[in-house]
Amino acid sequence: MKAPAKSSASSSRALSRAVAKKEEATALFALLEEHEHEQVSLVYEPSSGYRGIIAIHDTTLGPALGGTRFWNYSNDREALIDCLRLARGMTYKAAVAGLNLGGGKSVIIGDNTIRNREPIFRAHGRHVKALGGRYITAEDVGTSVGDMEFIKAETDHVTGLIGKSGDPSPVTAFGVYRGIKACATHRYGDAELRGKKVAIQGCGHVGYYLAELLYKEGADLIVTDIDGAKVERVVKDFEAKTVAPDEIYGVPANVFAPCALGGIINDQTIAQLKVDIVAGGANNQLAEERHGDMLEERGITYAPDYVINAGGLVNVNAELEGWTMERARNKEGEIFDTILMVFDIAAEERMPSYRAADRLAERRIAAIAKVRQNFV
Ligand code: NAD
Repeated sequence: MKAPAKSSASSSRALSRAVAKKEEATALFALLEEHEHEQVSLVYEPSSGYRGIIAIHDTTLGPALGGTRFWNYSNDREALIDCLRLARGMTYKAAVAGLNLGGGKSVIIGDNTIRNREPIFRAHGRHVKALGGRYITAEDVGTSVGDMEFIKAETDHVTGLIGKSGDPSPVTAFGVYRGIKACATHRYGDAELRGKKVAIQGCGHVGYYLAELLYKEGADLIVTDIDGAKVERVVKDFEAKTVAPDEIYGVPANVFAPCALGGIINDQTIAQLKVDIVAGGANNQLAEERHGDMLEERGITYAPDYVINAGGLVNVNAELEGWTMERARNKEGEIFDTILMVFDIAAEERMPSYRAADRLAERRIAAIAKVRQNFV
């Protein structure tokens, strides 16, 4: 039977709707508009095969700072979205940490195990240079201090160089320690951690230094790691007890301090938690935002990860500004007050702490934008 005209009209309407939907999903400016990114720069350098994206989210507070991620993305759109998401995260992290930095990030698309790295990173350095200081880069997943040296050959807008600020984890751990004390103040009315039980997931750089600070204050430690040698060191140095990696979530304690992986606060783990506080150094602890709401519903105090683990950024900022280690630690110590401010906003506005942290960042950006609007 011949298809009626109506049906062909409706199928062509369906087709044009599908085309419009596809266009909307791939529209570059719509992606920027969604979270108000200021700028995206794309460079292809044919001789090296360099394909790089730099995203600048917000420069109200200062130049956009964020590392370079070298990753084999499955397609360009995935790379762009990752870059935009990470750049925005940097705006919030810097704003809450009280730094005069904006948020940016860059990604290089490709195999990060390649040996001949100089041409790629020189090309990236030129890309960074072309932005005239609006973006400053540093190390991230897939890049090393050696790669930063190649970038430095082309531009001064790079930090985390050999012999400069060095390993950020002691500063990060100090911030996490101060953040845990703020959580204890909020929860128990006292910052004292002597006799409190802290379960630490991950005995790597941050986990080790955090264990040291907690041990010195007299906290009882229960730790885990998939690397037995790292666990041994913490047991020996700080009299910690241990559990198997998948048992750490169910350990009865005052504090659970995730210092290993992201996504560990999820549907499976929240049900197991027997703690009052979740506060640790790991990035992206909530598998999804709704898990922050679930912690709130369970009455667990959560220190938002990007607030409590800003030490890496403070360290890099210290390098840019020529700060001493003492000044960097002092700045990181301010995390105590920042975390309490987050909890105050959460209580006043009846929202979970992860949302209150965003609110605090947005308020600082708006306030500084107002102060700086006149011509001087
Ligand atoms: P690291 O690699 O030195 O330590 C991570 C540790 O976690 C390793 O010892 C690893 O064996 C362990 N681990 C991995 N999977 C595990 C599992 N399933 N169970 C238990 N342990 C596991 O890294 P780091 O520098 O200590 O960073 C730790 C976390 O903090 C990461 O999420 C990182 O992104 C974040 N962070 C670090 C800094 C910093 O200054 N180093 C700054 C901000 C955020």
